Amino acid sequence: MSTNTQTKKLPLAVQIFIALILAIIAGLLLQSHAKFAEAYIKPFGTIFLNLVKFIVGPIVLFSIMSGIISLSDIKKVGSIGGITVVYYFCTTAVATAIGLFFANLFKGSFPVLSTSSLNYEPSTESVSAMDTLVNVFPSNFLNPLSDSNMLQVIVMAILIGFAIILLGEKASSAVKGVNLWTEIFMKVMEMILSLSPVGVFCLLCPVVAINGSMVVGSLAKVLLCAYICYLIHAVVVYSLTVFTLGKMTPLQFFRGMAPAIIFAFSSASSVGTLPINIECTQKLGASREVSSFVLPLGATINMDGTAIYQGVCAIFIASCYGIHLTFAQMLTIVATATLASVGTAGVPGAGLVMLAMVLTSVGLPIDGIALVAGVDRIFDMGRTTLNITGDASCAIIVSKLLEKKTR
Ligand code: ASP
Repeated sequence: MSTNTQTKKLPLAVQIFIALILAIIAGLLLQSHAKFAEAYIKPFGTIFLNLVKFIVGPIVLFSIMSGIISLSDIKKVGSIGGITVVYYFCTTAVATAIGLFFANLFKGSFPVLSTSSLNYEPSTESVSAMDTLVNVFPSNFLNPLSDSNMLQVIVMAILIGFAIILLGEKASSAVKGVNLWTEIFMKVMEMILSLSPVGVFCLLCPVVAINGSMVVGSLAKVLLCAYICYLIHAVVVYSLTVFTLGKMTPLQFFRGMAPAIIFAFSSASSVGTLPINIECTQKLGASREVSSFVLPLGATINMDGTAIYQGVCAIFIASCYGIHLTFAQMLTIVATATLASVGTAGVPGAGLVMLAMVLTSVGLPIDGIALVAGVDRIFDMGRTTLNITGDASCAIIVSKLLEKKTR
């Protein structure tokens, strides 16, 4: 997805940022006319959100299928694939847990907003852990999509994806089809995301009109929380894995990665950073064979920064709505954010759409996205940096492990 459109000169991220500032100003000015903002501005935001809700199901279904299909290369690369996938899933699950932990620490300073401006009807039903488990598995092909039951959509995607791999040659046209439909839905997502400046303005303005400036301060807090988590994950988790498994000092690793890190931070695209990431890891000693498999796979399925962002935003949005998340719900967030990482494209803004999936999986209102969408690019710069650093740490480790094995 490109942040530049041909007709508009300003990059999308700048437009969204301007929309955010305008929404805050308009919201503050309309504080005494909050009802007007709710009646006449918010509906346009609701249209934008409806479009996001519409695209999230197909995106999850097709991009996870396509991610799973890309794993078929595992057969070709034998043990490289196994270690890579285990490393990717473990670090992503740890990343989400770090995000949830710190967001819970910050929770006290997040505001509880007036939910009248936010579409949310709290559920009064209590569901047991066993029911939750049973509900993960679909009993019907269409219902998961029509009910936006994301866990069931993920299960469908995994089953179909593996079936395609198992069918091998016979399913080669299905592979092409899935990849093509993934691209088509990505294009639709790009079109919908190009409306985000209007969406952000129309959603945020009524929230500020009703809740005042408290919303603005809370955005700074949630950003700070996410960046603390990004930093801790990089400094603690990657330093540890690179040092113990990759036999490289963290300083050496981060110094060698600096060009890729700077590029990822400014481009907010893992896929865009791929060539420079391959170069950096090879200079650091990763073998060509390993980096050319591990890094493209990582840019497709491994998103630790995105997982942290989803954990932090889920807690932030829940607390803005005055919702207390149970331990079981947090575990669900760890599972869905880890799987969402497989389905998140390595392009700017993709994590925001996947946040809709994570929120739905624990029954949180998708409207909450409005609260964080205006500053998504700032989240995205950090999360992309972490995403590519995680891929690179894996390339270093797998190279080292393989070197030992062949010695
Ligand atoms: N921009 C991120 C990446 O390219 C994906 C995301 O939006 O979280 O890795």
